[in-house]
Amino acid sequence: MKDVKKYGEQIEYLENIKGWVCSVCNRYFGEQKDAAKYCCAKIFKCEDCGKEYERRCYTTCPECHEKRNVERYNKMPKKVWNGEGMIYSDSHDKFFNDFEEIHDHISYLEFSVKPEKITISLEDLRLIICEKTKPRDFSLMDFCSDEFQEDTDIHCFSGDPEAFENDINEWLQKNTPTSYLPGKFAVDFTEAQ
Ligand SMILES: [Zn+2]
Ligand SMILES: [Zn+2]
Repeated sequence: MKDVKKYGEQIEYLENIKGWVCSVCNRYFGEQKDAAKYCCAKIFKCEDCGKEYERRCYTTCPECHEKRNVERYNKMPKKVWNGEGMIYSDSHDKFFNDFEEIHDHISYLEFSVKPEKITISLEDLRLIICEKTKPRDFSLMDFCSDEFQEDTDIHCFSGDPEAFENDINEWLQKNTPTSYLPGKFAVDFTEAQ
């Protein structure tokens, strides 16, 4: 057992068993060399800057991951928020009901979290306008598919499945609680509150 835990350097191809093996835990990967490279590896090479970093949640180091997030956000089209629904902070993973809450959160971050005085701007929060989520359409066939034989179709029901589905979907539209998810638009601050 070798004590190498760098991505891709902890594997060996063993001729006798015809496949790639992780030299740390001896797991066999067959021809799946790329999968083997991840096994037991602790140090990875950043896809963007080539720097070595520990832990693998992403394919880039934490700095480049943050850079990618900022770039992705900057490419989003912008829109002035009309005050309806919610706003999401992409950098702080937090939802807000209005600008008052956003400013409160900024004050909280500036004064309570760090010992030294820091300044956080609205832009730093990478705010995104949220969209209302809609319940998925109910489908009787999907709902029952696990219990059906393969050749069962919608016509095999004795009642009127379509009317039943319409009733359920109408009910869902009317009674589902409102919830929000980040949408396609970043908040335009040209009329910043
Ligand atoms: Zn392993
Ligand atoms: Zn990097």
